[in-house]
Amino acid sequence: MAVAVVSDAEQPHLGKFLRASKAFQPGDLLLREEPLLRLRRWQDALAAANALRKAQLFVPEGESPSMRRLQQATASEADPETALFVRSVVHFNSFGAGPSGREQVVFPTLARANHSCLPNCLVDADLGTLRAVRPITIGEEVTVSYLDDAGLLMDVKSRQKELQERYEFRCQCRRCTSVDDTRRFSCTCGGDQLPERGRLRCQQCERSSEGSELFEAEEKAAKSLEAARSGDLEEEDEGHELMKCHRFTSKHPHHQLTFALANEFAFPDPEASQQAVLTILDLVLQMPCQLALETGRDLARRLAKNGKEEPARKALQQAAAVAMVLDGKSSIEEVLAEWGETRQRPVAVSKTSKTGDMESLVPEEETNWLQRQRKAAAKPTVKAKKSTPPAPAPASPAQPAEVLAKVGMAL
Ligand SMILES: [Zn+2]
Ligand SMILES: [Zn+2]
Repeated sequence: MAVAVVSDAEQPHLGKFLRASKAFQPGDLLLREEPLLRLRRWQDALAAANALRKAQLFVPEGESPSMRRLQQATASEADPETALFVRSVVHFNSFGAGPSGREQVVFPTLARANHSCLPNCLVDADLGTLRAVRPITIGEEVTVSYLDDAGLLMDVKSRQKELQERYEFRCQCRRCTSVDDTRRFSCTCGGDQLPERGRLRCQQCERSSEGSELFEAEEKAAKSLEAARSGDLEEEDEGHELMKCHRFTSKHPHHQLTFALANEFAFPDPEASQQAVLTILDLVLQMPCQLALETGRDLARRLAKNGKEEPARKALQQAAAVAMVLDGKSSIEEVLAEWGETRQRPVAVSKTSKTGDMESLVPEEETNWLQRQRKAAAKPTVKAKKSTPPAPAPASPAQPAEVLAKVGMAL
């Protein structure tokens, strides 16, 4: 087998985890497996209890906030003990699948993959596949992200908070234990300054500065964004807060707040926002991801619609290059041909992330798939307490075939 389930006596905090038995390149398939449970309705879950017991997947021992919540949720079930067991296994081990990632799927081996904010693999829970998104060496730990792509762009503190609340662990990945690569302040040299021990240090010219004014401006912008996110504001006030946040983000185009403003609110405008999302994803994550794929395709449609044919063609090519790795295709041409064939079927979202809690299994609102995707991408996967306000309705998207025709791609 290309992947081994192992444990390491010197690193007990890893539990049972996955290790690569050979080297892999981006796009390579490491594993494909059948699920133990594919949960669409909670009523179906109990039937899988035996299979889940045999698999011996991770469930935390003892008391914890999550376990207490799960206990409360299952207390009135006919068989509360079994219900609690199944619900805990699903809570800590499932991946999102289906349209909008609302179904919860548990796999026997994939569930062993640990989280990293710099993952080397991606799970497609619809297909049951584990695919490399970075080069992997023999013996390296195989990691996936439990956060969705937008979640990986949150600052270290917010990522730690989400992971702690939802999965009850402290992430010790490389991104969480060195300087925060999402808080990027522009330097006069054109490079990015990152916070380091309470000061700012430019990655390019290495100039170090106190940065207290910038930290203050950042905090204010973050508060404005938070207020806009709350959904409690009148439209006019929300716009006002977005504008205040934009005053900061327009000066720091690679900052995590710029990403959030663009991705969640398409602010200041859809085209600039999508460009910003793509730039920041590339800069920080440096790996192909579902959000880059969807944003790139949408941007290509938008550009083509606005008559910008060459940029549209470029955006589509880039999106296809991402899809080539994520779907394990042999060439960009193969991806483009397939997109021509499947123009009515949107790609599923939330492929990389583990799922939220059972409350994610709610009837789907009647929205077009673009809005749905944007919402799914904007919302932290894990336990979104605050509902993300709907993004401004995008202009009705051109069909890919139209775009392809416009940019001169043969179907
Ligand atoms: Zn991390
Ligand atoms: Zn500099």
